Amino acid sequence: MSDRPVVTRFAPSPTGALHIGSARTALFNWLYARGRGGTFLLRIEDTDKARSTSENTQIILDGMRWLGLDWDGEPISQSANASRHVEVAQEMLANGHAYKCFSTQDEIEAFRETARAAKTSTLFRSPWRDVSEDEHPDKPYVIRLKAPREGQTTLHDEVQGDVTWANDQLDDMVLVRSDGSPVYMLAVVVDDHDMGVTHVIRGDDHLANAFRQNLIYDAMRWEKPTLAHIPLIFGPDGKKLSKRHGATGAAEYQAMGYPAAGMRNYLTRLGWSHGDDEFFTDEQARDWFDFDGIGKSPARFDFKKLENICGQHIAVIDDAALLKELVEYLQATGAEPLTTDQSDGILRGLYCLKERSKIFPQLIEKAHFILINRPVELDEKAAAHLTNVSRSILAELTPHLQNASWTRSTLEGVVASVAEAHDMKLGKLAGPLRAALAGRSVTPSVFDMMLVLGQDETIARLKDASD
Ligand code: GLU
Repeated sequence: MSDRPVVTRFAPSPTGALHIGSARTALFNWLYARGRGGTFLLRIEDTDKARSTSENTQIILDGMRWLGLDWDGEPISQSANASRHVEVAQEMLANGHAYKCFSTQDEIEAFRETARAAKTSTLFRSPWRDVSEDEHPDKPYVIRLKAPREGQTTLHDEVQGDVTWANDQLDDMVLVRSDGSPVYMLAVVVDDHDMGVTHVIRGDDHLANAFRQNLIYDAMRWEKPTLAHIPLIFGPDGKKLSKRHGATGAAEYQAMGYPAAGMRNYLTRLGWSHGDDEFFTDEQARDWFDFDGIGKSPARFDFKKLENICGQHIAVIDDAALLKELVEYLQATGAEPLTTDQSDGILRGLYCLKERSKIFPQLIEKAHFILINRPVELDEKAAAHLTNVSRSILAELTPHLQNASWTRSTLEGVVASVAEAHDMKLGKLAGPLRAALAGRSVTPSVFDMMLVLGQDETIARLKDASD
């Protein structure tokens, strides 16, 4: 099987939003395929009609797009393949690997009652398993798989190693219900086979399913995919990651302003390692990602680490791409879209806005001086900096700035000489300047603000403050 071109798939059930754990499963499948020139497919497992919604499907697709996990071809709808799933069950009937079972729910319950009383296995053993067709009644039936009852089955898993189950632990599972609908377990195997999936990478909560699914592969004599069941994600307290720990939906992380590249890096690192590397690019992740690096025990979600990695990514993302992502972030939060002037200003200012910003809200906070219009509104602390004395110094500074060439060293020189003339430390002038330029007392450096705002706007704001 190893010579087949790699095909992986992500198979979410649209019964809820894109959970961060599922997003990581998608990411691992994406990395594995993309790192090997393979194909990454998306299959929406929408057979549970009562719980699947198109809104959830949309949220899942949006989350994948946000994370940059592009899939090949169109998303496949599992429910659209129902007749094909039944066709395969019919084939198993024909080749003797499945049988029609006419037991009613009441009969099955009675069987279990008796077993409980006798303290024997409650796994249903259908009396129809070996009954020939001519003895069948004209009644509703389910199609059951004829599972082996003795011996054991060992499956090799790339993460879990060899895993063995006793065959008598599995019942003859239902493949097609009495209303003619195929069960989920059958659908997964048929779809994986038909889609040419070579590697099934998913949460280890599906490991038990793999044994049932294996029986279907055997019955159909289909080539089996390589399995990799990855441990779930835990919260910092070692319990399964849930709302109690914080956000669990991918969309929430986007709205909180985590950059997608940082998120990809962190989620890749969560449960997978490559030596001591914490920070890496997509290209490195694609090159390095393999099953060997996946840990056997659940990884714990560490919000601090996520932030740190995100900060490192913000520092290196190309400016145009960063601006595009910021625009999408603002959109995700429902904020007003940026005007052209604002986005031009941000683009000019990114070099300083990026500094020490770990998530987008911090960057937007720093960009406040770019986003506002004159007259600059002062917060309380900034207002306290604009005393009569400081305003007169700002007034004195303005003509010097009018004649200055707009470079950092000239601006530093001009401000320093005015401060000196008043026997002030340069830092003392920073407060009034921050107030005049940004209306706040915590801002990027005054020289960065001057450079980003440009000469006309800087002077206009200083005049507003000193008038
Ligand atoms: N639809 C399943 C889920 O969302 C995944 C099944 C699979 O990967 O085989 O958990």
